[in-house]
Amino acid sequence: MNVLVTGGAGYIGSHTCVELIEAGHTPIVVDNLCNSSAKSLDRVKTITGKQIMFYEGDVRDEALLEKIFMENELDCVIHFAGLKAVGESVAIPLSYYDNNLCSTMTLCRVMAKHGVKKIVFSSSATVYSGDNEMPLKETSKTGNCTNPYGWTKYMCEQILRDIAKADAQWSVVLLRYFNPVGAHASGMIGEHPNGIPNNLMPFISQTAIGKREKLSVFGNDYDTHDGTGVRDYIHVVDLAKGHVAAIGYAEGNKGEAVFNLGTGTGYSVLDMVKAFETANEIKVPYVIAPRRPGDLATCYADPAKSREVLGWQATLDQTDMCRDTWHWQSKNPNGYDD
Ligand code: NAD
Ligand code: UDP
Repeated sequence: MNVLVTGGAGYIGSHTCVELIEAGHTPIVVDNLCNSSAKSLDRVKTITGKQIMFYEGDVRDEALLEKIFMENELDCVIHFAGLKAVGESVAIPLSYYDNNLCSTMTLCRVMAKHGVKKIVFSSSATVYSGDNEMPLKETSKTGNCTNPYGWTKYMCEQILRDIAKADAQWSVVLLRYFNPVGAHASGMIGEHPNGIPNNLMPFISQTAIGKREKLSVFGNDYDTHDGTGVRDYIHVVDLAKGHVAAIGYAEGNKGEAVFNLGTGTGYSVLDMVKAFETANEIKVPYVIAPRRPGDLATCYADPAKSREVLGWQATLDQTDMCRDTWHWQSKNPNGYDD
């Protein structure tokens, strides 16, 4: 299939391009590079031997999307483009609502006009309400989001659901990611956050390489096995493969469907620190710090529906996640800036 990948130069997008190519599909990327580098796509070429057609620009630019849809025979779209920093979304909510909602609406308008009615959307476990029992099922309660970023995902899900309800030709697949980590085993592509990382794994790897003095472990008095927060970390290559399964599902099914992409296993912050140290034989200095506002004690997926309906499940383990994160970090200490 010819797949338009919005945000395809980014962390999850670039890994998905590799898996799409390896599964025989043709990704076409549009990205405004606001949080990425086009070098990621050069690296995808090195990994796969395939040059990706790339349009630099904003998904909210309807004229650009028109051009892309005119120039390519597209079968479906994977929509990654969006802003994703939780803290920043609290500081500049309008930018988040504008970027994440308007990109989704502009994209769907142009898709409908060109009769391309299959979309796979990057949603997040953050749409689940904080008062659910674990593990989270696709039927668990959503809403009560704690920040504007989470609300943008919640609202985009609703917009896409309504589109599928209004026109039975649409196939809408909503993928709720848990905690993506790791990098391609080649060490050629990976995650390089701007500034100080908010997420645990990039902070661990930047501490290990000496860019950060020590990790702050946000709280050790949660009701978990060691008191630190528990999350469902999923290797980005597994996640990318989930998108290949999702476009296959969209090809054969109409209407709206939602899937968790997680492993079903929760690890604590200290579990991850220890696993990273063991896998890479390197120390990660840390201190216990106060809880981070808005954090839950525990969050992990029930991935049964994805296994049964998509035929997808995660295969890479915690050691793979830690080893591949470090391989990327140590080969590319400055991300794509080297
Ligand atoms: P990323 O920032 O690396 O990738 C997003 C890409 O979209 C970037 O390349 C950025 O330049 C591009 N982009 C942003 N706004 C754009 C616009 N208006 N037009 C064109 N391009 C635009 O982030 P990622 O981690 O790869 O995340 C991909 C998607 O998955 C995002 O929608 C994110 O919210 C979602 N998600 C990510 C996580 C995570 O932990 N990484 C978890 C759940 C959901
Ligand atoms: N965390 C931490 N120190 C950090 C970053 C994160 O202790 O510098 C903890 C955080 O409190 C949570 C877990 O690591 O329990 C995962 O946090 P992350 O921000 O990566 O993901 P999310 O909060 O979105 O699940």
